[in-house]
Amino acid sequence: MGETMYAYKCTICGEFHHPKHCVCRKCGNRTFEQVTLEGEVTLLTYTKVYNLPEGYMKPYLYFGIVKFENGLTVSGQLEVNNPAIGMKLTSKVGIIKEGTNSDYYGFIFEEKK
Ligand SMILES: [Zn+2]
Repeated sequence: MGETMYAYKCTICGEFHHPKHCVCRKCGNRTFEQVTLEGEVTLLTYTKVYNLPEGYMKPYLYFGIVKFENGLTVSGQLEVNNPAIGMKLTSKVGIIKEGTNSDYYGFIFEEKK
């Protein structure tokens, strides 16, 4: 833990970017304001994934696309037993395993406590 994910908000048009872009995809501006990506998200869609790469300890995982309150959509791993489109989840950043040598930080979405 201790990792934080950021979105990059264009200082001219306000478009959010994640991951970071050098140039705003909407207006071409090159300056961004860093915004922490945390908190409540809404589940837009999800898929159940079998045949996981080596390194996962489960037979399947859910991956979902969620929307932050600022309108940015991102994808990540769902730690929810019965996902439903439209449900509110909490976003955190954690280690996502991909293969045996390449853990990386990514989004994990879990049920609100
Ligand atoms: Zn812009």
